[in-house]
Amino acid sequence: MKILFLDQSGKLGGAELSLLDVASAFSPHCLVGVFQDGPFPQALASRHIPYQVLAQSSIAVSKESPWADGAKSLGQLAPLVATIARLGQDFDLIYTNTSKALILGALASRLCGKPLVHHLRDIVSPEHFSRANRTLLVTAANWCAAHVIANSVATQAAFIAAGGAAQTISVIYNGFAPAAYQTAPEARADLRAELGWHDKFIVGHFSRLAPWKGQHILLEALAQCPDPVVALLVGDALFGEDDYVKGLYRQVQRLGLTHRVKFMGFRSDIPPLMQACDLITHTSIAPEPFGRVIVEAMLCQRPIVAAAAGGAVELVTDGETGWLCPPNQAQTLGDLINHSYHHPEQTQAIAQAGYHHALTHFTLDQTHQALRQLLGEFSTKG
Ligand code: UDP
Repeated sequence: MKILFLDQSGKLGGAELSLLDVASAFSPHCLVGVFQDGPFPQALASRHIPYQVLAQSSIAVSKESPWADGAKSLGQLAPLVATIARLGQDFDLIYTNTSKALILGALASRLCGKPLVHHLRDIVSPEHFSRANRTLLVTAANWCAAHVIANSVATQAAFIAAGGAAQTISVIYNGFAPAAYQTAPEARADLRAELGWHDKFIVGHFSRLAPWKGQHILLEALAQCPDPVVALLVGDALFGEDDYVKGLYRQVQRLGLTHRVKFMGFRSDIPPLMQACDLITHTSIAPEPFGRVIVEAMLCQRPIVAAAAGGAVELVTDGETGWLCPPNQAQTLGDLINHSYHHPEQTQAIAQAGYHHALTHFTLDQTHQALRQLLGEFSTKG
């Protein structure tokens, strides 16, 4: 089965990291078409996955853009659609991984007559998309996609609520290679010493810096915790959220937390960094489509506190495989962090239960098997 994958971003967000894992199962009989150069194409190259950067500049339409912006970019999009349609002729299936890729891939699939499957990794709701973009996305999927794969039940439900066809969507969870999350036993102590935090209770946060990811909630919660509790913020602003980042630095100053917070920027060594932490928090204030970091924390045998909305509630059973905290509730998050700090045995038991849960439900092998079966049904090779 030959697949043409499409993704709009040159950055390494969760959708692109997931696609790296998916495409590796179909390599070398695939091509990943990316609409922007950057770390994502570089990561594809380093894994020897065939790829092509299809556009010279990024597409100037965001999830929040109104109709007018989309219409203005048509001149930029038409040649890209033609390129995709031409490439598509050599493949059995077009697989789109992001919303802009869906729009262009949908048009191209009509032109080249190849089936299209969209992997929906977004919650199609007003918190994440303008009305114009919700309509566009759902219409393109309903008209042109042979099937839509949702990365969680929450993603599937939002799609249907936005007018998406219920009979064409099913759920396949993201999978992870457990071995990638095992690190040398001494790595934890080494990293903690390097950070100057060997005797601290380190609360980790692993996400791009963006208002809806809620790093500010963690800072507010941290201010309620005793001094030995510190926070490691791993991630950078990927999509122009520079004002939010400046606000986070100001918040750290205002709350007197300068010696208790470290901003690490974007990192590629997530497993050892997670293992250096005592607790990992996920604090999104809008529903998370899936939440890769939650499963990654489990595979690193670290306890997770996740915001109870969207796909996160499908990953964590509160008090068993992690803790769930209402989104946007710094006080409750602070209480949970304090609880974990004061109850190491329960915290350890939760981390172990989370680890076994992730090993049972979220392996890459399971995801690959489900994808192969589903894509086989819809490809022209069927
Ligand atoms: N991540 C990373 N480096 C960082 C911060 C995050 O590689 O500095 C990874 C993280 O490990 C996870 C992904 O980015 O695999 C984020 O995926 P998630 O589903 O949590 O959120 P998204 O970015 O898709 O909204």
